[in-house]
Amino acid sequence: MNQQLLIHDLTRAELKQVCLDLRQPAFRAEQIWNWLYVRRVTAWDEMKNVPAAFRKALAEAWSLSPAAAVQSAGEQGAHAARKLLLTLRDGECVEAVVIPAKGRATVCVSSQVGCKFKCGFCASGQAGFRRNLQAGEMVGEVLAAARELGATPSHVVWMGIGEPLDNYDAVLKAVRIVNDPSGLSVGARRITISTCGIIPGIRRLAEEGLQVELSISLHAPDDALRSRLMPVNRIYPLADLIPACRDYAKKTGRLITFEYTLIRGVNDTAEQAKALARLLKPVHARVNLIPLSEVAEFGGRPSALTAAVLFIAVLERAGINATLRASKGAGVKAACGQLRASRLGDTTGPAKTDS
Ligand code: SF4
Repeated sequence: MNQQLLIHDLTRAELKQVCLDLRQPAFRAEQIWNWLYVRRVTAWDEMKNVPAAFRKALAEAWSLSPAAAVQSAGEQGAHAARKLLLTLRDGECVEAVVIPAKGRATVCVSSQVGCKFKCGFCASGQAGFRRNLQAGEMVGEVLAAARELGATPSHVVWMGIGEPLDNYDAVLKAVRIVNDPSGLSVGARRITISTCGIIPGIRRLAEEGLQVELSISLHAPDDALRSRLMPVNRIYPLADLIPACRDYAKKTGRLITFEYTLIRGVNDTAEQAKALARLLKPVHARVNLIPLSEVAEFGGRPSALTAAVLFIAVLERAGINATLRASKGAGVKAACGQLRASRLGDTTGPAKTDS
């Protein structure tokens, strides 16, 4: 493991303190921040307005390399999704997905190497948990996406490998760094944190005073089915999760998105749509329906289009805004875990449809 500290782990205020501790003026931190996040240099020597002796001192203590991109997979075309496999300083690898679209570009970042939560349809959960990512490593994913895109992503979503609210402090720090208006400057409303339903994290996030979007992986309208698909539901059941979401929406004034993967004959009937509408009635919510990515180990199949259309109609009749999301990137192994799994020699792992 590289013993140097990672410069991208620092907020702008912390970088300023580092400069002051090394008897440099405060404006030096602004210069370095600009080199890191506006010009996005990858070598200390490129920071031309920083004195050479100070650059040397920084280079001895601080690493400028959160991750190296070793592989990218993608379809062709200006709006094609691309998946980046990044190697971290200790040799672990993690994925980020870049999703360009007309007028916007989204990067989907990972928050952990692996995941503890073992959702049935997810490669990350099956592969087990290795470690949390540092804030700077997540910032590094955004920087890698910016290099791939040739521009700063307009949107950042924490929907990659891992459960963001299980790595709360590092994720929130990365959010603040990515959001900093002097650097990458991704607006809070363009940042989404997606969770499988970690209630203490949702309640904590409500108190942060941030305008970030919250997305909940729901996938079932009742406890029995949700516990089967997502074991985390046994710890945080719907009777506790929904009030936590309602309180979050009330406190922040933000709409919550519920992700719901449609699985044929499992969770896609009209009765289940009605149950979902009843469940979400107390929450300021919208529902994002996702076609299942077919995977061998899970064995589920995507819903028929007619079932999906009926499901949406039931929700909309109940006054809940619902959309059927195109599974963009499925053709490039963009479902969580697959690229990493194939590098580890397992090309058959199930895909995560969302976090
Ligand atoms: S869906 Fe998210 S929370 Fe569930 S196992 Fe996969 S990464 Fe973990």
